Amino acid sequence: MNAPLLSITNVCKSFGAVVALENVSLHVGPGEFFALLGPSGCGKTTLMRCIAGFEAPDIGAITLNGADLSGVPPFRRPVNMMFQSYALFPHLDVFENIAFGLRRQGEARDAIAARVDELLAMTQLSNFGRRRIDELSGGQKQRVALARSLAPRPKMLLLDEPLGALDRKLREETQFQLKEIQRLTQTSFVIVTHDQDEALALADRIAVMRGGRVEQVAGPMEIYDHPATRFVAGFVGETNFIEGRIERHVARNPGAALIAAFGRIPCEPGDLPDGAQATLSVRPERIGVTREGEGISGVVENFVFRGETTLLRVRVAENVVLRAAAGHGARHAIGDAVKLSFPSDAGALLGGGEIG
Ligand code: ATP
Repeated sequence: MNAPLLSITNVCKSFGAVVALENVSLHVGPGEFFALLGPSGCGKTTLMRCIAGFEAPDIGAITLNGADLSGVPPFRRPVNMMFQSYALFPHLDVFENIAFGLRRQGEARDAIAARVDELLAMTQLSNFGRRRIDELSGGQKQRVALARSLAPRPKMLLLDEPLGALDRKLREETQFQLKEIQRLTQTSFVIVTHDQDEALALADRIAVMRGGRVEQVAGPMEIYDHPATRFVAGFVGETNFIEGRIERHVARNPGAALIAAFGRIPCEPGDLPDGAQATLSVRPERIGVTREGEGISGVVENFVFRGETTLLRVRVAENVVLRAAAGHGARHAIGDAVKLSFPSDAGALLGGGEIG
């Protein structure tokens, strides 16, 4: 990354006995789309509020373009925040809502009109300038809120669950718009979300948080294909956890493997020593399902049709059920005997067996 725009170093924050942030460090680059992802209560809103200046860290530093932000009030930070509730002004029309920050900065009338027109066009609201807020749909309100928070050209925009109030179909469409607007404005976006699909779809990089800590920071594909911890593997996407013991290269059995309850799975054990307990995380869509041939033997216990794929639950040992996503057109019935197989690089090996 080039010199980071935002640097968070060893930030801790507690509310009484509750530790909301524990030694959080991360960096966001200029023009980057960054997501803070995690379950409710993991500290992502607190971190965002620290960046915006609504909360102060107990320890640690937050800098923007190298300048320390401690003691700088929210309105003096080159950072804007878009609230989940949008917080639009109901008594002002769309144009005036977007112009609000610019008027406060004392910009000239013509400059304000030009900037608002530019944002109306960018958010596909060109004919809505004189509409009242209560005459807009949910998606339109969301776009006004976005235009309003971008109008004063902040260096960084913080978005709290930006698509949370929209229904599923609209959310998908809006993801494309949000990405496009971020690309056009080249503003750093930091979104807070508990929705893994949203983080994967939108962000250049994702910080997965849990219990006030950052578990992993990486690009969406890396997070999905190479989760660093069991928590990340389970929280981002669906997965199977296969418990076993590492068997490293031995003369009679070339290649390392995970010895699971139902057989031997070739794998790359990395640093894990011979005999170590480990967990292999394998996504359902990486598991091929055939009626015969090589593979792990199992019996279809149940299935759900999902359109693009059919998700099968296949019992492979007395107390092990694997989920496999069979491709479109696959026909399976409860009780079918099947073979499951996946390439040795399909899984992510996590140390520590059931712990972790
Ligand atoms: P959500 O998705 O539910 O908003 P979150 O990941 O954003 O959750 P935070 O809101 O940052 O989590 O909260 C982290 C922890 O800090 C929680 O245990 C929360 O109850 C606590 N907390 C947050 N703000 C305060 C506060 N002002 N006073 C006391 N406790 C707080």
